[in-house]
Parts: sequence; structure tokens; C-alpha cells
Amino acid sequence: MKSISVFPAAVRVGLLALVAAGCEANHHHDHHGHGAHSANASASPGALPSASSHSASVAFSPDGNRLVGALPPASSSAIASANTDGVFTPEPPATPQQDSGAGVGYDKTPVIPGQKWRVHDKDRPVPPIVAPGARFSHGAPPPSDATVLFGGQDLSKWELPDGKPAPWTLRNGFFQVAPKTGSIQTRQEFGDCQLHIEFATPSAVEGSSQGRGNSGIFFHADFEVQVLDSYNNRTYADGQVGALYGQWPPLANPVKGPGEWNSYDIVFEAPRFDTAGKLSRPGFLTVILNGVLMHNRKELNGPTHHQVVDPYKPYNSRGKISLQDHGNQTRFRNIWVRAIGEYN
Ligand code: MG
Repeated sequence: MKSISVFPAAVRVGLLALVAAGCEANHHHDHHGHGAHSANASASPGALPSASSHSASVAFSPDGNRLVGALPPASSSAIASANTDGVFTPEPPATPQQDSGAGVGYDKTPVIPGQKWRVHDKDRPVPPIVAPGARFSHGAPPPSDATVLFGGQDLSKWELPDGKPAPWTLRNGFFQVAPKTGSIQTRQEFGDCQLHIEFATPSAVEGSSQGRGNSGIFFHADFEVQVLDSYNNRTYADGQVGALYGQWPPLANPVKGPGEWNSYDIVFEAPRFDTAGKLSRPGFLTVILNGVLMHNRKELNGPTHHQVVDPYKPYNSRGKISLQDHGNQTRFRNIWVRAIGEYN
């Protein structure tokens, strides 16, 4: 337990109390060797504490992967205390995952405009695996001008497309996809923006390729940054975690193991259209996953749809941010967004 000493005393007491109470959501985090993932399969969602039982105690585990206790309201300094207490304890990166090398994908889909590869091309090389640092922006408190989309308490900022309340499952400081209830979207619309969002794919490893831990972050309903368990899980390159789905594989694969928290920091620049509805500037995405650059202002060539090349259609410059129900119980926490300002 010595690593717990990175937390200030008040948080430490809460953390120890929670550990003593057996309330950790995922016990099996072997960040020095990821060969034991099957052990996670025994973690039962039913063992999670109720959303209300520990709302006063907030801490992240030393590796930044586990949130212990509920996230506080955005104004609370509790997360900041856990991350900015002046104690810097660098930890070695995790043991890299393995690439099975087996190609998965398609060979009859259209060629992506401007590229030599087909959509979801089975022969397209996957990016190199990079073992991420122990944590990057995990638990990052929202800046003062951010809109907090999920601070750990409720799903009030989210809705179904018909405006009904988001029916996903609220847990202790995070929420997870309730399969077959549908994708959810923000109630508010955003233009160009900076998004922070954290996700964890299910600790119980089930399915393969696109069937494992699949979700997604959609901007304006049509531009997806892929969420997938790409840890020892081969799929087509433009469909793995961090892909601009069906268009651009990420530059690297720094995903953490099943059940561990990943941090996304994303900049979305919405496409622009003239008054006649003609594209005047494409959309762009910049994506960092766990501190590793995935895309550097990469141009979108249109909506990111499955197996097809779709042209842009006129969009408003503002739109909703959506999270995908792809049938897997992927989790999300600590979501905030900032509008991008203009230079003077
Ligand atoms: Mg997806």
C-alpha cells in the first residue's frame, strides 16, 4: 500500500477506508504485466458500490486507472488534490501488448479519397503499439470555462436523440453503456471544441475485432473517434481505438488494458459550408490518447461511416456530441468540453 502515500492525508483516509470496505471496482490491475487479463473476467459489476454510497470520498489509484469514490462536482478541489499535491512519482510505462498480426477487414470496399487504401482495408498496416505512461490527463479537473458534461453525479447533460433522458447506467463516479438502449448525445450543441473524456473498456474480455469494447465519440453525429478495446485485439487499422473511423488509423496504439481508464483529449474543428451549402473548409480532428498523439489536425473527408465513402453534406457549424451504444458495456467518466476561441 505504500504507493497510496502520494495522496494527501484526507484522501488517503478515504481511500484506505474504501479499500478496507472492499469497494474497488476492479481489483486486477497488473500494470507491470498484462498477461493476466482473464482474471478480470471474474470482476462482477454486481460488486460495485451504489452510486450514492461513497460520494464524499474521491481519489484515483496511484496508477490513475481506478477512480475510488465518486467524482465531485466540478468546483471541488478533490481531484486536483489527488493530482496536484506536489508529489511527482514517475512510474514506468506498462508492458507493451502484443500484436497478433492477423489481418482483419475488407477488400471490396471503396478506396478512400486521396489514399491508396480501401475503407477498413484488411491489408492496411496497424500503427505501432506504444506503452503509455501510467497516467496523463486522467482525472484532469475542468478549467473554469469548461462545460462539464459529466462530473460523476448524473447524466442530466445527456439525452436520447428524441430528447428523453439518457438511459445508460450510472455507477460510482462513472457511467456505462446500457446495451440496446441506443446512443446518447449532449443536450447542448457545440462548435469547434476541445473535449476531455475518459473511458474504460469492459474488464471482462468478450468478443473480438469490432465486437470488443466498441463505442465511439461522435461530433455532430457524423464524425467518429473510435473507442474500442484494441488491447491484444486485432481489427482493421482504420477501426481500432483512436481511428477516425473508416478514414485514418491513428498514429499509434497506446490503449490501456481492459477495465483500465484511458484519457482522450480531442480538438474538433467543424467543417464549414458557404451559403449555398458547398463545403468551404473540411473538418479536422486532433486526438491525444493517454498522452500519445493519435492525429495531428487530420482532415476529415466526410462522415465516418461503415464500409462506405460518404461526401459531406451541409451541416450547421454547431452540433451535438454523441456516445455510441455498440452493444458493449464501455464506461465513461470525467467529461468536459471547451469552446475554441479566436486569436486576436
Ligand atoms: Mg465505434
